[in-house]
Amino acid sequence: MSDNLLEIKNLDVVYRLQKSVLGGESLVYAVNDVSLDVKKGEILAIAGESGCGKSTLAKTVMKLITPECGEILFEGENIKNLKDFYKKVQIIFQNPYSSLNPKMKIGEILSEPLVINTNLNKPEIQKIIEEKIQKVGLEKSVLELYPHEFSGGQRQRIAIARSLILSPEFIIADEPVSALDVSIQAQIINLLKQLKDDFNLTFLFISHDLSVIKYISDRIAVMYLGEIVEIGLTEEIFNSPKHPYTKALLSAVPELNPQNEKERIQLAGELPSPENIPQGCKFHTRCPYVMDICKSKHPENIKFSDNHCCKCFLYENSVV
Ligand code: SF4
Repeated sequence: MSDNLLEIKNLDVVYRLQKSVLGGESLVYAVNDVSLDVKKGEILAIAGESGCGKSTLAKTVMKLITPECGEILFEGENIKNLKDFYKKVQIIFQNPYSSLNPKMKIGEILSEPLVINTNLNKPEIQKIIEEKIQKVGLEKSVLELYPHEFSGGQRQRIAIARSLILSPEFIIADEPVSALDVSIQAQIINLLKQLKDDFNLTFLFISHDLSVIKYISDRIAVMYLGEIVEIGLTEEIFNSPKHPYTKALLSAVPELNPQNEKERIQLAGELPSPENIPQGCKFHTRCPYVMDICKSKHPENIKFSDNHCCKCFLYENSVV
């Protein structure tokens, strides 16, 4: 039996933009031919600049966006019953304030999924929500308060507690710390790591911050304009990055030891808008190594190890 909890196959998510009042539309590929497996018990991180399609991918996996084509399998099967799916798969959003109903007390917010999805009585529900709120490092007394009475870090702890209420197997964390102060980010990342071990969780972890990703992930997929351009174990990506885009992202990660500081790779130009995605290799308008072939032909995956591959013509003749 496969050890993959989630399988994404050739996924396209397309937005249709009206070109003018006279009609006509242009197609914007927010996610383009993405195939990924997430193994049970691992943390797979998706890295890339904002606007590269990471969050669209997360929302599509959560069935909040309908893909143009492709397949998403959970535990080897197509997702048919959303109620069952949401018991096993939960999402933590970037902004905990907008994801918590301001008119409900924390106790009500945490109880709601149990009221809807189980036949548990009040004392049983109370016991679970007290356990979960303490598990994320908050006192039981907070159950009587409202979201506005908390700091950003505390609110994210509450959002994490809610994601755990139905004892899911899989959590999608969509930029879970990027709205928080740096000092709080470390606490939340440590909490997620602890919860992963305590509850045997699997994570799809979305972030633009490679220093956070380095600390938390087992594998990394690097995304550029809707496409996965490189994927590998975290140590492979950090110690031996292949794709020029990955190298540029890594060169911007600050090092604690100044002796390890790398020369910053400055990319030409801005991230192209989704309406103007370049032909050939999508990265060719910014790549320091661009060749003629890159402008007309799309690179295929080149494999470097069982886990590590990238799409780039620089390695076309590499021995695999
Ligand atoms: Fe750069 Fe060409 Fe590789 Fe694309 S295929 S990353 S343009 S060298």
